[in-house]
Amino acid sequence: MTTHKRILVTGGAGFLGSHLCKTLVQQGHDVLCLDNLYTGFRGNIADLLTEPNFELIRHDVTVPLSLWVERIYNLACPASPVHYQRDPVGTIKTCVQGAINVLDLARQTGARVLQSSTSEVYGDPSVHPQTEEYWGNVNPIGIRSCYDEGKRCAESVFFSYQRQCGIEIRVMRIFNTYGPRMHPNDGRVVSNFIMQALQGQDITLYGDGSQTRSFCFVDDLIRGMVGMMEQDKVSGPVNFGNPMEIPMVELAERIIQLSGSKSRMVFQPLPADDPRQRQPDISLAKAILDWKPVVTLDDGLSQTIAYFQGVLAHGL
Ligand code: NAD
Ligand code: UDP
Repeated sequence: MTTHKRILVTGGAGFLGSHLCKTLVQQGHDVLCLDNLYTGFRGNIADLLTEPNFELIRHDVTVPLSLWVERIYNLACPASPVHYQRDPVGTIKTCVQGAINVLDLARQTGARVLQSSTSEVYGDPSVHPQTEEYWGNVNPIGIRSCYDEGKRCAESVFFSYQRQCGIEIRVMRIFNTYGPRMHPNDGRVVSNFIMQALQGQDITLYGDGSQTRSFCFVDDLIRGMVGMMEQDKVSGPVNFGNPMEIPMVELAERIIQLSGSKSRMVFQPLPADDPRQRQPDISLAKAILDWKPVVTLDDGLSQTIAYFQGVLAHGL
């Protein structure tokens, strides 16, 4: 039985945040969703807006905030390369100043705070699969650095507040996650490929398509996120993702097959600093939470394809 809590979710109107808010509302918590609607939108949380234990606060996390909460999930930050590179300075501010602001709030209220960090802290990894001990291989001045280094600095901010101020922190490193409510135009590979396949457009593979990623379905990830927040064994960082690794060309083939599309693949230039490979070692999450993903890639992709079919038929 979950104890009722007052919970702040920054970035709650985004892809992951909206799923998290829904789970927490269903568990009976009082949920405050803070979002500046930069990449998120009201439609993602439309069914929650009528719930008495849910509230949307339109606010930028880079601006200090003052309210009383017992838990803070810090998700505010654009996650797609297209979006985080559109305003790189804003991305750094959101990562770093946003982290400072939620931690100052935690200091005022005594709240426990969870940071949604990322596999991007490993950069283009030379250790494979990636374990939490690996320090990463990030280009500090490249086009991805606003996000990668922003998130790395945010981790440093979190651990500094823990050491210096005794704040209760939880840090999870999230690997590529997909599912319903991803934005159809956010430029990430799963949404791009599915939207292209459903509209009979060319599937755009960057580079030769041999680079790999490992995709976790959103329901598995959110279960891990809530588990990570509520466990008392470690602060982290802890990897969360699905170890099933796949080259992008195979992902395209699966999406074409599952959606019954006639789209063909085209090859376009690889963006700078695009990581060659990525696969989480999730031994730690398994050991502390008994967590592992259960949704297969085909199952998750089918649910996501059905969602995007709905978006194409009825709009967002
Ligand atoms: P998203 O872009 O869908 O959601 C981010 C949300 O944060 C949006 O609602 C956006 O409007 C909001 N936001 C952005 N800047 C803000 C600011 N300054 N103030 C307030 N709100 C702001 O992305 P997502 O996939 O839901 O990612 C959520 C979090 O998880 C991010 O922190 C991201 O770095 C992390 N993450 C996601 C993935 C993934 O595969 N989805 C992987 C690793 C880490
Ligand atoms: N990608 C691709 N075609 C697209 C979008 C992305 O081939 O239309 C590739 C991209 O170059 C990367 C991988 O898919 O190698 C995952 O990209 P995404 O932006 O989803 O996530 P990230 O690179 O941050 O893991």
